[in-house]
Amino acid sequence: MTTLNEFSRCVAQYDPHALPVPAAQAIVRQWATPVTAVERVPLRDALDRVLATDIVSPIDVPSHDNSAMDGYAFSSAALAAAAGTLELRIAGRALAGHPFAGHVDATQCVRVMTGASMPHECDTVVPQERVEQGGDTLSIRFAADAVEPGANRRRAGEDLARGQAALRAGRIMRASDLGLLASLGIGEINVRRRLRVAFFSTGDELRSLGDALDPGCVYDSNRYTLFAMLRRLNIDTLDLGVVRDEPAALEAALRGAAASADVVLTSGGVSVGEADLTRQLLQTFGDVAFWSLAMRPGRPLAFGRIWSGERPGLGLPALFFGLPGNPVAVMVTFYQIVREALLLMSGADVPPPPLLHAVSRQVIRKRVGRTEFQRGVAQQDARGQWHVTPTGSQSSGVLSSMSEANCFIVLGHDEGEIAEGDCVSVMLFNGLI
Ligand code: AMP
Ligand code: MG
Repeated sequence: MTTLNEFSRCVAQYDPHALPVPAAQAIVRQWATPVTAVERVPLRDALDRVLATDIVSPIDVPSHDNSAMDGYAFSSAALAAAAGTLELRIAGRALAGHPFAGHVDATQCVRVMTGASMPHECDTVVPQERVEQGGDTLSIRFAADAVEPGANRRRAGEDLARGQAALRAGRIMRASDLGLLASLGIGEINVRRRLRVAFFSTGDELRSLGDALDPGCVYDSNRYTLFAMLRRLNIDTLDLGVVRDEPAALEAALRGAAASADVVLTSGGVSVGEADLTRQLLQTFGDVAFWSLAMRPGRPLAFGRIWSGERPGLGLPALFFGLPGNPVAVMVTFYQIVREALLLMSGADVPPPPLLHAVSRQVIRKRVGRTEFQRGVAQQDARGQWHVTPTGSQSSGVLSSMSEANCFIVLGHDEGEIAEGDCVSVMLFNGLI
């Protein structure tokens, strides 16, 4: 068995004490194996689920040539013959869902409404605004050069042709996809089972909501941000509460979590302090790839595998992310390292989040040799140029900086201090969080 630890050592720039962010992302990506189980769900339950199999269109959409306008359908052969004004007699009418069954010759037209099937001999529609009624109201007249042959006709299969791939496996189902499948007459689809993620907080100082806040204690906020971030990804969550800084309790919690979930997330206890037990424990009964990133916030971050049994390899496995304790660091590491892994494990295609270029409105302190994700407020000016200002305190404990911000300012590993007016990369929260 290749261990994660052995694998990671072969990754370029491997340094377990300060692994560059791109190297960490590459390691995590490699171990994010998609769940294989598939469920069949009705369309309405498919929103935000991950499509498990390609969908091939069983029909042409639309199923028949039809009119794109309210107007008059006729054969374009009549255009060629016309000199100037074309006059056609109205042979009948067709509405959406009510086709015209008769025959139309080159001197005739059919009154058609939007969506009506094109009568057999007709290939062109003149919009009703372009015509004049004939004297007896049973005919119309219009300028022949005002209409191109084939105009205002929607072709059968123009949206989707029969046999064409409509949606690919790996897609996270959106509103338009539900509508698209309904237009194909498909009412049920195969989706991957939801990923199951267990999480708990560690720390003797943590109090749960409803408890009295004893001196020196803080309310446990990480379990709420984790819950919400996981829910956004449509993941099944298992909240295991707060675990004290006590080896036996922590070990039992980790084993129990591995037994019941695909992935286990914890917060706190992965730094180098005396009470940072998670890291110590993991080294004895887990398989650790790295525990420290060249990243700010989020330097202490453990990634590896754990098992429900007594030794590595025994019992049920789970991927493990030991997130830092600081509330902002939890969110930053989740979005920059954990999110992609969870989506890949859910079976989804994960395009990298788009980065915008923005002009910094102020000097930003930054040290070369680590990736920083500062919280910022980005705005577009009247000319479309983005500008960004870091939110006040960038301390990893100040959660209000996340609430105030609308983006991460992404400062790369090799970047140094940013001057006012310099261009920086910005990752908007919109669509991400
Ligand atoms: P640690 O990594 O355990 O040393 O924690 C770092 C900092 O984050 C400490 O100030 C902790 O009190 C704080 N912290 C840890 N876990 C949580 C949590 N679940 N909610 C809020 N703050 C936390
Ligand atoms: Mg702690």
